Amino acid sequence: MSLRDRIEGLQARIQRACEAAGREPSSIELLPVSKKQPLSLIREAATLGFTRFGENYVQEGADKAVALPDLSFILLGPLQRNKAKPALQHFAEIQSLDRPELAERLRRFAEELDVIRPMWIQVDLWDEATKLGGCTEAELPALIESLGGDPRLPMKGLMAIPPPDDRAAFSELATLRERMQQDLGQSLRLSMGMSSDLEAAIVAGSDQIRIGTAFFGERSH
Ligand SMILES: *Cc1c(COP(=O)(O)O)cnc(C)c1O
Repeated sequence: MSLRDRIEGLQARIQRACEAAGREPSSIELLPVSKKQPLSLIREAATLGFTRFGENYVQEGADKAVALPDLSFILLGPLQRNKAKPALQHFAEIQSLDRPELAERLRRFAEELDVIRPMWIQVDLWDEATKLGGCTEAELPALIESLGGDPRLPMKGLMAIPPPDDRAAFSELATLRERMQQDLGQSLRLSMGMSSDLEAAIVAGSDQIRIGTAFFGERSH
């Protein structure tokens, strides 16, 4: 199947989910996840109108950002403190912020590099942090405090990777987002839903679905 066909298939899935949920398809960002995909496919996606791509590994994403300077890359994968600087240099946004030590390191380098990088807090409400990263709900206040409202690292939203078989997870995240918006007095976007469960995520209120295999096909290893 061609890239164009897969994207059309995805757009039809998004359309149907939006009809079921009474939502506007244009309000949902389809973020292609290009990890382990070749530059040629990313270039092809760019010719079809996509300019932002999710990546999991700092080095791989940085290499792609250097090779494709007209496109933006978003870091989705776990970030170690010692990679904070290259992450800020090469990624337009970071979605895996999950602990105060990392926030402090990012603030220091954002100032040094004189850059503004929207941040997404990765939450884990299901005790899977050891595998995938993410902070618990109890850890959120300290993390937000450590960001200190720094205008270089504006808080854009929440990102999560719920367990695939947990049917309540998306609505738990939507509820958490509501509560945080109230507490903080600002709007937050919600990034949830992948190739296999984008419909349920859209129905529950996701603003951004992160799609790898259903967009690009199987990843090479
Ligand atoms: C790989 C990955 C995706 C995309 O997964 P698919 O199942 O291929 O759509 C989305 N989000 C994160 C954080 C990922 O690591």
